[in-house]
Amino acid sequence: MNRVNALFGIKYPIIQAGMIWCSGWELASAVSNAGGLGILGAGSMYPHILDEQLNKCKAATDKPFGVNLPLLYPDIDKHIETIIRHKVPVVITSAGNPKTWTSILKNEGIKVIHVVSSAKFALKSQDAGVDAVVAEGFEAGGHNGREETTTLCLIPLVKEAVQIPVIAAGGIGTGRAMVAAMALGADGVQIGSRFVATPESSAHQSFKDRVVQANEGDTLLTLKELTPVRLLKNSFFNEVMAAYERDASKEELEQILGRGRAKKGMFEGDLENGELEIGQVSALIKSMKPAAAVVEEIITEYNQIRRELNHNNYEF
Ligand code: NDP
Repeated sequence: MNRVNALFGIKYPIIQAGMIWCSGWELASAVSNAGGLGILGAGSMYPHILDEQLNKCKAATDKPFGVNLPLLYPDIDKHIETIIRHKVPVVITSAGNPKTWTSILKNEGIKVIHVVSSAKFALKSQDAGVDAVVAEGFEAGGHNGREETTTLCLIPLVKEAVQIPVIAAGGIGTGRAMVAAMALGADGVQIGSRFVATPESSAHQSFKDRVVQANEGDTLLTLKELTPVRLLKNSFFNEVMAAYERDASKEELEQILGRGRAKKGMFEGDLENGELEIGQVSALIKSMKPAAAVVEEIITEYNQIRRELNHNNYEF
């Protein structure tokens, strides 16, 4: 049996990324009901909101689901308490040291995955006792590694470094890409951007429409001095570029970013002044689709491509 399916008790090794402002209970429960692992994005939820979202998610699915928790979240103790009280089956931690919370969560019977962008951090995560790592390449939307390692290079590097299951992320939104990730050594995939363009995602409709319209080259990774982030080009992005042109200081960049930019863009639909975090794969997303249809389409294409590869039987 596939190691990711066995670890989390799911049908397909498709983990939905817990994206801030986009991943509420409707998306998480829909993905879990479709056979993947749905994830609530707790980074943009106040503690009482996470509590409410967990109640709704548990009412909407009896399948396993998880919570994504950025470790730099300001009220992390409260989120941890809520997660333990709700007996959340899986937690995906990111942006921080996996040593801090892994054993506390695991002692409560919670499976822990940590997100990494290098083999070095994958090894550290394994040493910290996590059950699996998400290895996220340069193509991914939102927060990202500074080294710009692409998914194509990152997955084999991480695979060689650790024995625990590896979940590939960054640039994956189709069954074809899932086959490629598995060929590189992944045991499963984490998919974010493709699930933004679904009716169940909590993102603003204008942001969803912008994602569907996105073309090749519309996203760039920037703000490495703060937290590197991949986003769609817009007025806010141009403001950041102008700041780089005049050699702006880190403090000036911080000021331009301000607070709540991601909410403004992705949740409130301000396409010009907000931060629009999405992956390079947005160029391949051509329509809105229910989350279950996304999962089905990816699995159907995955099986078809596998069959084609077997049939062609290239051996050199
Ligand atoms: P900002 O500091 O710009 O804004 C904080 C936002 O989070 C506000 O919109 C606020 O809502 C909301 N929020 C939710 N809970 C709290 C809380 N306990 N205290 C303060 N604000 C809270 O941060 P960002 O929007 O850039 O990022 C928010 C979180 O998401 C961070 O933890 C960050 O690490 C994570 N993140 C993760 C990404 C990823 O790729 N994994 C990408 C981007 C961010 P309100 O405006 O209603 O007060």
